Amino acid sequence: MKKILVTGGAGYIGSHTVVELQEAGYAPIIIDNFSNSEESALEGIAAILGKEIPCYRVDCTDAVAMRQVFEQEQDIQGVIHFAAYKAVGESVAEPLKYYHNNVGSLVALLQVMSEFNVYNLVFSSSCTVYGIPDKLPVTEQTPVQKANSPYGNTKKICEEILSDLAASGAEMNSIALRYFNPIGAHPSARIGELPLGVPSNLVPFITQTAIGIREQVTVFGSDYDTPDGTCIRDYVHVVDLAKAHVVAIDRLLEGKVDKLEFYNVGTGNGNTVLEAIQAFELATGVKLNYKIGPRRAGDVPKIYADVTKATEVLGFKTTSTLEEAMASAWKWQVSLKESTTEA
Ligand code: NAD
Repeated sequence: MKKILVTGGAGYIGSHTVVELQEAGYAPIIIDNFSNSEESALEGIAAILGKEIPCYRVDCTDAVAMRQVFEQEQDIQGVIHFAAYKAVGESVAEPLKYYHNNVGSLVALLQVMSEFNVYNLVFSSSCTVYGIPDKLPVTEQTPVQKANSPYGNTKKICEEILSDLAASGAEMNSIALRYFNPIGAHPSARIGELPLGVPSNLVPFITQTAIGIREQVTVFGSDYDTPDGTCIRDYVHVVDLAKAHVVAIDRLLEGKVDKLEFYNVGTGNGNTVLEAIQAFELATGVKLNYKIGPRRAGDVPKIYADVTKATEVLGFKTTSTLEEAMASAWKWQVSLKESTTEA
């Protein structure tokens, strides 16, 4: 089985990808420093797969420690690099923390990969690189704009690093996946999104409110130029997103990538925040306590993906509806409550 190193593999998207890689016949190996995850994710992965996945507690900015992992594992065929900080607000308050971790980890990783002749990389990028787009849906040709947060800028800089490396003729092949809004959880409810502290994403905020951890969801702005005035996002089920990484790795290992490719990974549909709330209520039968508040600075009014390229080239397809994704997020939230009540 081909070994794939997954940095940030104990995190939300990483843990789901580890499961899909193993189920597709790869041998995933996790690196994580658990700065934004818990070891319980490893237990969840093991429960789904019926086997433990090797995990190294290593910081990706530490090239010396990463080198040891590559030495020990010997024949790593490719890397999926999730490890990064992702809280937009925190990145505004502590930009250096974000540049150090998100940019520093990619640079260290690329150096160590080259030393060990590992030349296949999937990088976690984001639709944040499109800023506020002029035309919808956004394609991979939609111009990248000035980032509106240090977090967004780290994604833009990391993409530029990959482009510069490709232009240098270096022997590295990369796929940057630009995620839209991942939501939901594994159908087993053994892994899911585990925000430490107050969630900055909508869906964990919804599920934590519905279960009584938070009092109320605030919908930021109802006067945008959208059908119901609330922001539009492209919510993609995390299991569908995880599978996009498997087909990206397939393509890299088949030698089909010439230096660098970019793909949007979303559903191709935009939903308003109120539609997302309605989907949650319909899927779960739980009434959500929410209020409409003022706009939040920095929010993109509307964005959703054109996924033609990922569909045609990678064979990527989504299988889950918004309601199914909401139902899985709720099942995960309920299971978390049950496990803390039992403990
Ligand atoms: P997450 O925080 O759940 O997972 C990231 C994991 O990386 C965590 O387990 C964390 O402990 C680990 N990590 C962070 N820095 C590390 C370091 N220096 N060394 C080792 N491990 C480190 O986040 P996620 O939602 O799974 O996101 C994964 C990737 O996808 C990130 O790069 C993020 O920026 C990107 N992304 C996420 C979203 C989203 O909405 N969740 C959207 C677009 C892009």
